[in-house]
Amino acid sequence: MNDEIAARLKAATGPKGFTEDPTEIAPHLEEWRSKYKGRATLMLKPATTTEVSAVLSICNETSTPIVPQAGNTGLVGGQIPFDGEVLLSLSRLNRIRSVSSDDASMICEAGVILAAAQHAADDNGMLLPLSLAAEGSCTVGGTVSTNAGGVNVLRYGMAREQVLGLEVVLADGRVLDLLRTLRKDNTGYDLKQLFIGAEGTLGVVTAVALKLSPKPAMRCTAFLAVPDVKAALTLLTRVQGATGNLVNAFEIVPRNGLEFVLEHIPGTADPLQAPSPWYVLCEASGAAGLSAAFEGALATALSDGLASDAAIASNETQRAALWKLRESMSEAQKKEGPSLKHDVSVPVSDVAHFIAKGIDAVTAALPGARPVPFGHLGDGNIHFNIQSAKNADMASFLARWDEIARIVHDVVRDFGGSFSAEHGIGVMKRADLARYKSPVELDLMRVLKRTFDPKNILNPGKLVPE
Ligand code: ZN
Repeated sequence: MNDEIAARLKAATGPKGFTEDPTEIAPHLEEWRSKYKGRATLMLKPATTTEVSAVLSICNETSTPIVPQAGNTGLVGGQIPFDGEVLLSLSRLNRIRSVSSDDASMICEAGVILAAAQHAADDNGMLLPLSLAAEGSCTVGGTVSTNAGGVNVLRYGMAREQVLGLEVVLADGRVLDLLRTLRKDNTGYDLKQLFIGAEGTLGVVTAVALKLSPKPAMRCTAFLAVPDVKAALTLLTRVQGATGNLVNAFEIVPRNGLEFVLEHIPGTADPLQAPSPWYVLCEASGAAGLSAAFEGALATALSDGLASDAAIASNETQRAALWKLRESMSEAQKKEGPSLKHDVSVPVSDVAHFIAKGIDAVTAALPGARPVPFGHLGDGNIHFNIQSAKNADMASFLARWDEIARIVHDVVRDFGGSFSAEHGIGVMKRADLARYKSPVELDLMRVLKRTFDPKNILNPGKLVPE
């Protein structure tokens, strides 16, 4: 980028709207797992949609590539400028434009931190059910642009299902105003869907209209020891039946994963007496009085052998302690050493079979490696992580990432599953996209990319394979 283009971009965002200070830019060039590192010398920080529009029209006119970045919590490298592109931070677009309990909706700008949006909904007696481990730093815009999942998908769906409307700046700077909160709008192509999960390759999301739900009066949370994955799924069916489908989270953790948490995360303790091969964190939410049905279902499950023990939270502190066991899984694995990570899904009925086949295939290729499959059992999304063998050489273990991913993803394909259930594509899974998507799907994705971004300025090199 020459100085003249840089000067025009800086003028478009004003003195507070850019930085060239390497120390201020540095944290935006690396993601938290340190797997990807990029470079950029100019970071723009527009504060309004009009400024984003001005920036993109300059970039388009001058064929200047630009990488949008929200909370920088993505796990597939989609937010990193690898090639000295202009970095576009949405952090100053951080106003909550409206919250309406009558309309059960809220409108947030892209840079609003997800937890702040949750609090604003809560202050209005409503629930924003989007919830994920990164909610303290990820943003509404990033969550929607990547169609994030999280722990409540079972009940409320992915980010896509929470979106009522969008405001998007197109590659040429035009503003596409689809910021409506209508529940019914059957007027042809639903264009907003194209930008959800597009990872900033088709346009830049600047504001989102989100659907809200009534705030539940009661949450029932239990941590259960279960003999196997199949028993866990039968247990889920029982609790759904007893509560009228009010289970919002149903997460599975294997024994070795729990041991990593107990060893590496201060302030955690095993809430159950004896070790078990698997654990489930089950949570239902609804009207006061829900606990009778919830606890009744668990008591029957215990007497039927679907679970061997259960800890039920009786207050918010205990609930937080149980959730900490699940939410600390990634951090505990990081402290245990390097691991190969896979974010996959299969039909719920096939999860038990898939985990068994996946473990066989991986341990045949990597003797001594320690599979730690955990995650969102209720919706079929397993984080199929492989911890290295104890004292294994880190570099040679990590060098096999692509080879092992191929093995895992081929097993996933055999079950009709997805090689990226909730983390997206970014740069990490572009080759998988080329391998596992049909030629017709790939062709249509390329047609869309060329149509929306003919000069390939928006997050080039991400998502869409060459
Ligand atoms: Zn997850």
